[in-house]
Amino acid sequence: MARPIRATISGQALRHNYGVAKRAAPRSKVIAVVKADGYGHGLARVSKALKDADAFGLIEPEYAVRLRESGLSQEVLLLEGFFEARELPAMAAASIATAVHSEEQLRHLEAFKGGKLDTYFKINTGMNRLGFTPAAARAALARLQACASVKSVTLMTHFATADGPEGIGEAMRRFNEVTAGLVLPRSLANSAAIFAHPETHADKVREGIALYGATPFSDRSAESLGLKPAMTLTSELIAIQDLAVGETIGYGATYKAAGALRVGVVACGYADGYPRLAPSGTPIVVGGVRTKTVGRVSMDMITVDLTPVPQARVGTPVVLWGEGMPIDEVATSAGTVGYELMCALAPRVAVGEAP
Ligand SMILES: *Cc1c(COP(=O)(O)O)cnc(C)c1O
Repeated sequence: MARPIRATISGQALRHNYGVAKRAAPRSKVIAVVKADGYGHGLARVSKALKDADAFGLIEPEYAVRLRESGLSQEVLLLEGFFEARELPAMAAASIATAVHSEEQLRHLEAFKGGKLDTYFKINTGMNRLGFTPAAARAALARLQACASVKSVTLMTHFATADGPEGIGEAMRRFNEVTAGLVLPRSLANSAAIFAHPETHADKVREGIALYGATPFSDRSAESLGLKPAMTLTSELIAIQDLAVGETIGYGATYKAAGALRVGVVACGYADGYPRLAPSGTPIVVGGVRTKTVGRVSMDMITVDLTPVPQARVGTPVVLWGEGMPIDEVATSAGTVGYELMCALAPRVAVGEAP
């Protein structure tokens, strides 16, 4: 009595992908990035699978406290820091480390008397979203280090182009110039930099997307990086249609059969998190065979070409992404990235753990 769509999360794959980062950055601690509910995989599930991780990083203060309350003893870091001064007492009480990227946060820490926090001082090396500019950084850092509420300082930056041909040269140059002579731990690398830029590894790397088995690159597959998909989204065929030449399928009649065409209807739509903009031709696995979608993605259904799967019938299993169907290929076809698809998994999809 349930729709057959299901997401299965593999703790084994998460641990494998954590190990891939540990081997790629052997002298660094690896912060497991679990923002956005563990990139859609479920925070509790991911943190349980990675209970031996060196540290956890996330964005949401309430989830950080929840993570601590679940019994984890390692570092928990808020990657954007706190949003309001009134969050500080609970963060100090729960030993949540905070990024410090703004003058406002700095002032709140200067005024805070209710405990001590580990901090990550964020320097803007070219992303131009968060962090102190190179010109302002040294004065701000001195003030941070003078705060009675500050237990430790780690230097931090975040790269805009670690995944692309532009690389991190200029950002690295700015970071090294501002931090020259400082004897403080450093954290710079995201997943892309872990693989592509070993010179950024320093004391702590921050592994996000690679942990979940998708690629941070547009031109290197997850498999080629040694990663395994942590989420597999599966469903079944719930109907089959035999189309005559010239007939169309789905809303807007965007796909017209060039000849007789057997079409499978899959119980999965954009209300499950499948991207509506995935065009006809998006890869999908039906009955273990790779085929493609035809016609528009609708709220609760997608339609697929059964030509390469003549044995398909109602109930035949379908893999939307995950094991056997890289999420990155579906994302590329839809004009987006694996990050967005996994984070958008909808609440109505039942989630289970792989045995
Ligand atoms: C999300 C995030 C990461 C992880 O990035 P990936 O590309 O998913 O590895 C690292 N650092 C910061 C500050 C982040 O916000």
